[in-house]
Amino acid sequence: MQLKQVKLHQIRMKLNAPFVTSYGAVQDRESIIVEMEDDQGVIGWGECVAFSFPWYTEETLQTCRHMMADFLIPILFQQPLAHPDEVRQRFLPVRRNQMAKAALEGAVWDVYAKHKMMTLSKVIGGEKEKIDVGVAIGIRPLEMMLDEINNALAEGYKRIKVKIKPGLEHELLGGIRKHFPNLPLMADANSAYCLDDIDLLKSLDEYQLMMIEQPLGVDDLVDHAKLQKRIKTPVCLDESIVSYECAQKAVELGSCKVINIKTGRVGGISEAKRIHDLCQQNDIALWGGGMLEAGVARAHSVAIASLPYFTLPADTAGSSRYWEQDIIEPEVTVHQGAIHVSNQPGLGYHINRNRLEAVTVQKTTFIKDK
Ligand code: MG
Repeated sequence: MQLKQVKLHQIRMKLNAPFVTSYGAVQDRESIIVEMEDDQGVIGWGECVAFSFPWYTEETLQTCRHMMADFLIPILFQQPLAHPDEVRQRFLPVRRNQMAKAALEGAVWDVYAKHKMMTLSKVIGGEKEKIDVGVAIGIRPLEMMLDEINNALAEGYKRIKVKIKPGLEHELLGGIRKHFPNLPLMADANSAYCLDDIDLLKSLDEYQLMMIEQPLGVDDLVDHAKLQKRIKTPVCLDESIVSYECAQKAVELGSCKVINIKTGRVGGISEAKRIHDLCQQNDIALWGGGMLEAGVARAHSVAIASLPYFTLPADTAGSSRYWEQDIIEPEVTVHQGAIHVSNQPGLGYHINRNRLEAVTVQKTTFIKDK
């Protein structure tokens, strides 16, 4: 594979409803869609899932654009690639910047799978024909949350994740448990607590949550290990796990019993696969998180969740839950709480070029020097 051209389509799409976390609300979702072409004319797609504001990790759309344009794309143009796993090695001289790396690496995987005439799922080792999915519900008044849970259950979603923040945790979780005593329920704090809150976090054990996600610092492993020893609820790490090495340290320290893999956050599919294998070897439960993605990253998420050890429902809901119209055809749909893994080569979804054009706010093309 010799890459010859990369186009970055910066898009802006309005979420059907604002998504509220412990940090604030997102409604206008910007992303960068990567269109990559090799010298055989095969086109692959990737998506940068960084947000416009660095509330989730330190990366933003603009830092990713800078990294891709000035460092990562020139590295990819340097010489041909025999396999997408080489991208991770090639990018090693650039520290961190995982979401920028993952956006390009994802497109390389799509080109590679299309050359092999295989689905992205199969080419990365996926085995499942369908993946179970759940929904994530942002912070909102309890009555609205209960309505949303009822709707999600009626649509067949397999588990519910709710965002929480200090001061609202008992009201929300207690209220939900009262109405849904047996619901597979988890809570995501997006790092809103500290170790001083240990008694409060311990008091959440009564709700028998499947897990509590990222209660403490975004880059912490040590305090999470102390917390996990004191509470019954399994701790799930999200923001803290940015690489295989981080995951390895978390396992060694006992920082969590569950890991949420987001391909963007860990720097790409190759790294996600390594973490998948590590979790399998160490009995750490595993699932795939969501980033309010447009269709390209949503399709990547479906492929990664088809790996055999993704045993808990993923946060990859159907496109229509987020968007009036997605940029892929067909859109990702959910039937009885599951998404069928496409059997078409590559991502398994076509890009709706008209829709992509309509939501693009900026486009830049990079061409390999002859
Ligand atoms: Mg999370």
